[in-house]
Amino acid sequence: MTAGFVRVALDHPLSALYDYRYPASAPAPTPGMLVRVPFGRRDVVGLVREVSTNSDVAADKLRDVSAVCAACPPLSQQWLSLAAFAAAYYQRGLGEVALPALPQALRDPSRWERLLAPEERYRLLPAGRAALPEALPARAQALRRLAQALAETGALDLADAKALHPKAVPTLENWREAGWVEYERVEFGSAPGAATSNDESNNASNNVDVAQVPTLSDEQTAAVESIVAARGFAPFLLHGVTGSGKTEVYLRALAALLEREPDAQALVLVPEINLTPQFEAAFRTRFAATLADDAIVTLHSGLAEGERARNWLAAHVGRARIVLGTRLAVLASLPRLAMLVVDEEHDPAYKQQEGLRYSARDLAVWRAKQLDVPVVLGSATPSLESWWQAEQGRYTRLTLSRRAVADAVLPAIRLIDLEDERRRGRASFEGLSGPLVAAMKARLERGEQSLVFLNRRGYAPVLSCDACGWVAGCPRCSAYVVLHKPERALRCHHCGWESRIPRSCPDCGNVDIAPMGRGTQRIEEALTSAVPGARVLRIDADSTRRKGSAQALFSDVHAGDVDILVGTQMIAKGHDFQRVSLVGVLNADNALFSHDFRASERLFAQLMQVSGRAGRSGLPGEVMVQTRYPRHALYHALARHDYVGFANAQLSERRDAHLPPFVYQALLRAEGRTLEAALAFLGEAAQALAAIPAAERVSVYDAVPLTIVKVMNVHRAQLLVESQSRAALQATLRAWQPMLRTLRGVLRWNLEVDPLDI
Ligand code: ADP
Ligand code: ZN
Ligand code: ZN
Repeated sequence: MTAGFVRVALDHPLSALYDYRYPASAPAPTPGMLVRVPFGRRDVVGLVREVSTNSDVAADKLRDVSAVCAACPPLSQQWLSLAAFAAAYYQRGLGEVALPALPQALRDPSRWERLLAPEERYRLLPAGRAALPEALPARAQALRRLAQALAETGALDLADAKALHPKAVPTLENWREAGWVEYERVEFGSAPGAATSNDESNNASNNVDVAQVPTLSDEQTAAVESIVAARGFAPFLLHGVTGSGKTEVYLRALAALLEREPDAQALVLVPEINLTPQFEAAFRTRFAATLADDAIVTLHSGLAEGERARNWLAAHVGRARIVLGTRLAVLASLPRLAMLVVDEEHDPAYKQQEGLRYSARDLAVWRAKQLDVPVVLGSATPSLESWWQAEQGRYTRLTLSRRAVADAVLPAIRLIDLEDERRRGRASFEGLSGPLVAAMKARLERGEQSLVFLNRRGYAPVLSCDACGWVAGCPRCSAYVVLHKPERALRCHHCGWESRIPRSCPDCGNVDIAPMGRGTQRIEEALTSAVPGARVLRIDADSTRRKGSAQALFSDVHAGDVDILVGTQMIAKGHDFQRVSLVGVLNADNALFSHDFRASERLFAQLMQVSGRAGRSGLPGEVMVQTRYPRHALYHALARHDYVGFANAQLSERRDAHLPPFVYQALLRAEGRTLEAALAFLGEAAQALAAIPAAERVSVYDAVPLTIVKVMNVHRAQLLVESQSRAALQATLRAWQPMLRTLRGVLRWNLEVDPLDI
């Protein structure tokens, strides 16, 4: 007998909901629940959007729900409307947003039972900490491992314990009788504990803690007070120079919130996985006395699936009070979310570049508005979008104009004129100018660290033959391949194609083929000989390919085992290096003349960020930017640390040129077997658009090939549409979608709203 029908969202490109029947015998599903349903020949996980007593689908076409995930509390109406908003705004189906937002493990019904089972664990008591492992026989390896694991984390999951020792349970039971450990069973979804007072580790860190909380500067105090006083939707733009102590402002504002609202949750976003450990450590120390260990969780793609699912669920049931994550965390389910923080809000990493192309920063602001709570966007170089909001008074600006640590001042920024160096016949070494090398040597003598930034990995971006003009290119892409010396390979950075380095020119046989230009590997090599005795470390995507290796390398820097750190933007962001007093910037000029109107904004932010790594702890900091254009306005603003002047000049240029944030844009990209196919598709798309009434207020540009037109033998082109009215653009895109679906001739296409790279 049928009890009713559910409309289910599935991860499928069509925006429709799918109807299923559920039998009377089963527990009745409610909206927000996860269900397993047959789809084609497979079973998939879906999200119940509506429950109904009837269905328009013919009875013989209807199928039954296979299972309902009753143990998982349903996603809230609020979360469903967040997903629905993101879907509508970014022109996707609800299921395409909602299901990928869930942790992978939860989308696999065979794992539901284990994930949602109660957690059983043993917690180490002070008596056990004193007694173990000395009380164990020296040869009892497995027992010692068990004791060690307990000592390290303070508590051990039953499953983990069993994995360490086959007889873990009887052993732990013995230890329990001895008063060394206690047994805990936490029902899934049970309320959060406050920090347990019998936990010695908490008390210990509590004492350390009080000593470590710094006295706020006047500017920090004012910022914290404004945030704490806010009620309802209140967007703040925290504009604080590098090292001004923005993190401290977040910590204080969150502490005040958690004190005022005992079950409130907060979401803190950081742009990069590599920054989460630094933040997590700061948050754990600060809240050790007030929050239980499991009340702070991280969410990012670097977590193992099981852990990510557990953290996600902890947030979903309200046990996690502070969720610290990268952009994907913005879609976490947080039923009692009361404050959001987006650190380094300008960072392009907040934009997802595939699938649902959302901006986590923008969704964070939307969520704050939906929930009527404060949101803090922090940056030394706010995005021009956010800066413009503040200029118009829509965001409240909070300013930290000085560095927080006593005696720490912003570094002196010096432009090194490469042309002038050359004219005067001054020595330079493999792209490193004389003044930079001398400054690094001085740092080495004083035991301080230097950082060399250049945004290009590999050894050299081009390998070419002087005799015939041959250049090593990728057979699948319209791009040169990059020479990687340690790996002895030519590598395409667009598709991953790889080959060995040829001994001679494949075209003319000349053996004098030479690398042109410089990447991080080549600079690493040059530094080793230019600054003898220096310990040089390179951090880029190549040197950190293995999981956890980035963390290890950054620890070496913090530990002082490195004299010169060379790397790409990975080293530029957010890190609080204590002994770096010199920053060298190489090859920044390339970005000055880009076709992308956002290139200067990005370059300025990047250079301010990387400059901000110098002199953070009170050592006088210095930045040297090597350039051929020392008179360029961007460098001038940089040398004066003048973000405000730069931003306002950029905004007035953008206004005159009718560019964002003064217009709203969307980009249709097409990928075809030939460029002609891609362009033809876009041409038809443009024609279709002209027929849409709302498109009267939308302008359409000509379809153009992408700069790197061919990747993996696929040809790519794009069509830009824009409007001064966001509503008109949205209405047009909504009407355009179904038309686009009827067009043929390309392999793929996608629509991106508010694109960053044009
Ligand atoms: P930002 O994120 O603004 O670049 P951080 O939050 O990393 O800066 O803070 C920079 C340094 O200043 C950190 O080492 C931090 O511990 C320290 N700090 C922050 N606030 C204060 C303060 N009020 N007094 C002393 N040191 C502080
Ligand atoms: Zn040749
Ligand atoms: Zn390629």
